[in-house]
Amino acid sequence: MSTPIDDAAALFRAHVQKMLHYQEALALMYWDLRTGAPKRGVELRAEAIGTLSAELFKLETSRELEQYLNQLSEPSTYNQLDPITQKSVLEVKKQYDRNHKIPAERYQEFVVLTSQAESVWEDAKNSSNFELFKPYLEKIVAINQEFVDYWGYKEHKYDTLLDKYEPGMTVQQVDKIFSGLREETVKLVEAIVRSGQKPNVKPFLRAFDVAKQRQLSLALLERMGYDFSAGRLDETVHPFETTINRYDVRVTTKFLPDEMRSAIFSTIHEGGHALYEQGISPDLIGTPLADGASMGIHESQSRFWENMIGRSREFWEYNYKTVLDLFPMQFADVSVEDFYRGVNVVEPSLIRIEADEVTYNLHIMIRYEIEKGLIDGSLSVSDLPEIWRSKMQEYLGVAPENDADGVLQDVHWAGGDFGYFPTYALGNIYAAQFLNALKKDIPDYKEQVRRGNLRVIKNWLNQSIHRYGKTLMPAEIVRQVTGENIDSKYLIGYFREKFKPLYHLL
Ligand code: ZN
Repeated sequence: MSTPIDDAAALFRAHVQKMLHYQEALALMYWDLRTGAPKRGVELRAEAIGTLSAELFKLETSRELEQYLNQLSEPSTYNQLDPITQKSVLEVKKQYDRNHKIPAERYQEFVVLTSQAESVWEDAKNSSNFELFKPYLEKIVAINQEFVDYWGYKEHKYDTLLDKYEPGMTVQQVDKIFSGLREETVKLVEAIVRSGQKPNVKPFLRAFDVAKQRQLSLALLERMGYDFSAGRLDETVHPFETTINRYDVRVTTKFLPDEMRSAIFSTIHEGGHALYEQGISPDLIGTPLADGASMGIHESQSRFWENMIGRSREFWEYNYKTVLDLFPMQFADVSVEDFYRGVNVVEPSLIRIEADEVTYNLHIMIRYEIEKGLIDGSLSVSDLPEIWRSKMQEYLGVAPENDADGVLQDVHWAGGDFGYFPTYALGNIYAAQFLNALKKDIPDYKEQVRRGNLRVIKNWLNQSIHRYGKTLMPAEIVRQVTGENIDSKYLIGYFREKFKPLYHLL
């Protein structure tokens, strides 16, 4: 016989399922738009997406859901729920509260503002005209500050924005983690620049048949342990991974006809995201917990594969022969050591998305410091172009000549996303901590990679991280896997160990 609590929990679960089904339809529609939907269909598709999104939002904010949450959060009821339902209730309640604290009409204004701002940003970027974008960014910052007041915060206003993407993370922690990393990275980059060494990248800039590049991408995904019976690889402009459902996790990549590193590392990066999603415990299907723990933990998985495995010497000692089979002419005179050096160039540059693994975090820190200042009011939007240039000069030793290559380069702020950027660097920091833990559990992991046995790595990640999905907080996962809190010293150590010999530094 079912009890009233069983009934309430069943209704709650059915409601959440329905939300997930709308999300699945939307994810598939977005995937389709970005992987070759016919141009003429785009406008009507956008309308259909608008309708489904509005229906989803109704479900997320409905009175029924409020009732289920109130009923199930009641301590005497809550304590009788199974652990997965308990965590699902907490997760859905958190989203529900966030949605509900913002007056509906203000949220609607925000949606309209950011969609206008995205198209203005595009024009501003194309003409390198910050003044054009400035009034929009000012409004976006103001509305974000207002939202923060609705949501509330304990110490720093920016904490509540960070928490959206990296639950539990605070300004106090990020300031501390970033400052040590910044100092050491700046020193290392200066030493690399001073060394005057430049790996030869010419072999990568030849003509590469796209069909063969695709073959290489498929082979690498296969070796990583990506399940093609629950996924597929397609081509796009800006590569991404998307989860349609737990058994349909798709990877996209980009094939350039005259550069071959781009496809390789996009594929490995998105493949790392996909392994995470494919590794989530099937017990969590149909709940909001069948998801990554946070943006930072997700990024740790893609970066781990892309940089720590995919840009390692051992990885290429095994996989280079596939490259040579496919492109014998292009690499006829290139040793595996030269190839390894060519995929590990470190060079200060202006554009974040093209940055190497060492300088990348410095780009993130600049955005973080600016966001924090805008939200707490210590910086004003009109100061940004100048602050951008001076921070680039200070951290990277290069500065943009125009705002298109500076403050206007990323779309995130036009979309109203504040608090997202730091998760990219947190991902790198987590990844290095996980690598350190992997070394303890599998001391010969490098030998395994050299023999092409990447499944050992994948299985370790499945067991240690993936299967938990969103049932653990990011800090809990880090502690459980490493026995420590988040700490950038492992990333600093990894950089030194890898790049000092690569650049023949003392
Ligand atoms: Zn990523």
